[in-house]
Amino acid sequence: MANNQGSSTDGLLVLRGIHKKFGKVEALRDLNLVARKGEILAILGPSGAGKTTTLKIIAGLEVPLSGEVVFNRRVINRLEPKDRNMSMVFETYALYPHISVYDNLASSLSALKLQKSLIKEKVERIAGLLGIAAFLDRKPANLSGGQRQRVALGRAMIKPADLYLMDEPIAHLDAKLRHRMIGEFKHLQESLELSTVYVTHDWQEAISLGNHIVILNKGRVEQYGSKEEIYEKPKNTFIAKLIGDPPMNLIPGTVVKKAGRSFFSVDGIDLGIPGNVAEGSAVLGVRPYNLKLVSGPSKEAVKTEIYSFERYGMNTVISIKIGEGTYKVKLDGMHRFTIGETVQVRFNLENSYIFDDKGDLITILGKANG
Ligand code: ATP
Repeated sequence: MANNQGSSTDGLLVLRGIHKKFGKVEALRDLNLVARKGEILAILGPSGAGKTTTLKIIAGLEVPLSGEVVFNRRVINRLEPKDRNMSMVFETYALYPHISVYDNLASSLSALKLQKSLIKEKVERIAGLLGIAAFLDRKPANLSGGQRQRVALGRAMIKPADLYLMDEPIAHLDAKLRHRMIGEFKHLQESLELSTVYVTHDWQEAISLGNHIVILNKGRVEQYGSKEEIYEKPKNTFIAKLIGDPPMNLIPGTVVKKAGRSFFSVDGIDLGIPGNVAEGSAVLGVRPYNLKLVSGPSKEAVKTEIYSFERYGMNTVISIKIGEGTYKVKLDGMHRFTIGETVQVRFNLENSYIFDDKGDLITILGKANG
């Protein structure tokens, strides 16, 4: 297995060379990943990337065409789901409709023959953490979608298991509750050291929760790494576009050398770049907060027009046009502009990125090349 996808010796769960097809659809192609004990591995990717299929293969609900699922150092491809000691919650959560929320939560523990008082304690604790304590007597039909989702999450988490599998478990909650749940979930996961594989299409959720992140695209791993690696060293423009709010600006142009200095040339504008980069067509990746507005004459700044602007909480994001492209500038504080207004934008290219014309990372500017 490639080193950058984690060492297979330190994993609680290791997927090795997994292929999966549904008819002609190649859902997973040579998938390798490692989930470590006590950590959250976040699987991030757009719709159709193969996230749910990966989780189902881990759970034993789908069988891979080839490859190995190794759990606790044992190949478990043929092990029945019920014998895997995993607990799962899927986006299409199924609760028992005819029993109360309390009994839905307690049902996960019934097989363990625990004392009633201990079950009560565990149910009340998880219900408190998930904010569903007030609904314990209700039937699932009398809950909102978000409340039902929290009950499903509680039911999965209350059950003792070696691995927790979560497929978009909080996707239906409103933003405020989602935020709270991320905090509660992280608290619970860290205090109980629950090993978790967590599927999401939301990069913020992946970064907030994942100790490690695997990014899937069309059934392949685009990158595996810690959250810092994924954010600071995206392997390609696919990942650069996926992470960040707003995501990184990706500006196609050419690296040229003039008088021994490298410049990134776009639409007749030459931007000085730190370090030495090979000449040729390339894509400059620059985060919106590394573009600044400047007033007064400046040789370094690019003159352009405001295309649009919007408020981002207490910040302002403006769109500017350079050549054919529209790019984002993130400013601290709330500002007003007029569409079409002329502004000067200075590019801070330290810690910006040069990708080749296929989208693979060549170098991070201002850092040692390579
Ligand atoms: P989403 O975020 O939309 O849930 P995902 O990343 O979880 O997407 P999967 O559900 O794993 O993606 O699907 C991966 C690919 O496999 C998709 O092209 C999907 O249409 C296909 N697929 C998944 N399950 C089946 C199935 N049972 N029969 C046929 N095709 C399937």
